[in-house]
Amino acid sequence: MGRDGDPKREVCVKKPAVFLDRDGTINEQMGYINHLNRFVLLSGVPEAIRLLNKNEFLTIIVSNQSGVARGYFPIDLVYEVHEFLRASLKEKGAVIDGIFFCPHHPRGEVTEYGYVCQCRKPETGLIDMACESFEIDLSNSYVIGDRHIDIELAHRSNMEGIMVKTGYGLGEIEYILPKKSIKPIHIASDLLDAVHWIVGRTKTLNDRRA
Ligand SMILES: [Mg+2]
Ligand SMILES: [Zn+2]
Repeated sequence: MGRDGDPKREVCVKKPAVFLDRDGTINEQMGYINHLNRFVLLSGVPEAIRLLNKNEFLTIIVSNQSGVARGYFPIDLVYEVHEFLRASLKEKGAVIDGIFFCPHHPRGEVTEYGYVCQCRKPETGLIDMACESFEIDLSNSYVIGDRHIDIELAHRSNMEGIMVKTGYGLGEIEYILPKKSIKPIHIASDLLDAVHWIVGRTKTLNDRRA
């Protein structure tokens, strides 16, 4: 029930989200980001995120960071990188609403994180966590990433997936994608291109509904 019986408050308005992969999509793919110095934002990323903010998409990062389970770097480094990322974007007027990551790996040597989990993409645990924290309209949401597992993740959560050609993208598109039955709805040159495409498609769909 809504507070004071205000009928408007009884309707919980769900917002669409765009789930962004991190390495290779937001920052340069440099293998494991095992030091803050290896975290370099790709060009056009602040603009892309500002555009998502402006179009009222929740902007949520979902990232596999198995380097934690493998003992390559401590989990605190991941938090440090994310603080740096948020601060760098904030300087440019871009806001990340949420960041969810999986520190696990089935063969990880760090016992605390070395097990089969439900959140390592393409498992959907990170999306489930995001849905517990935010009211998300998944039917109008997207996943953007440079690897086919991001497209698989989208499919498993009933979303559309978009592949970018940054990071592992070019190689994944050329060598992995042809072998897969699940395809991205669009292939974009980079994050900004992908966001432009989403905004355009959303306008078209809304015009049709109107
Ligand atoms: Mg990636
Ligand atoms: Zn996990």
